[in-house]
Amino acid sequence: MIEQIDHIGIAVHSIEESSSLYRDVLGLTFQGSEVVEEQGVKVAFFQIGEAMIELLEPIDDEGPVARFLERNGEGVHHLALRCDDINAEREAVEQAGIRLLSDRPLDGAHGKRISFLHPRDTGRVLLELTQRQKEATKT
Ligand code: ZN
Repeated sequence: MIEQIDHIGIAVHSIEESSSLYRDVLGLTFQGSEVVEEQGVKVAFFQIGEAMIELLEPIDDEGPVARFLERNGEGVHHLALRCDDINAEREAVEQAGIRLLSDRPLDGAHGKRISFLHPRDTGRVLLELTQRQKEATKT
């Protein structure tokens, strides 16, 4: 089941420079940052109600966010939908003929399990399925 918008991912050249808008001007609470090697990014989260803004800064020139910035410049990169069972959601979208960008859930920030839907199958919106760690271990 899709429960809510988990976060909105925004590609930026520098988290340090972009943070002042979200933290100082908009007054959102900074929730920490970390490097997600598998995605080639450093991420920083800002709480906004139950959801978050995720700033994505590439850590090299090769990753998908680096390529996005090169093509489009800074801007909204993806929309993450929180679900209670990522494997069930993966199955459901595949049944509907929508391709996934990985053949298994990947490791996201904060120990989340994530999967991206192919944007060519979703009207060019990059959708991320995300399942939080505590739901993943719940029995
Ligand atoms: Zn994300």
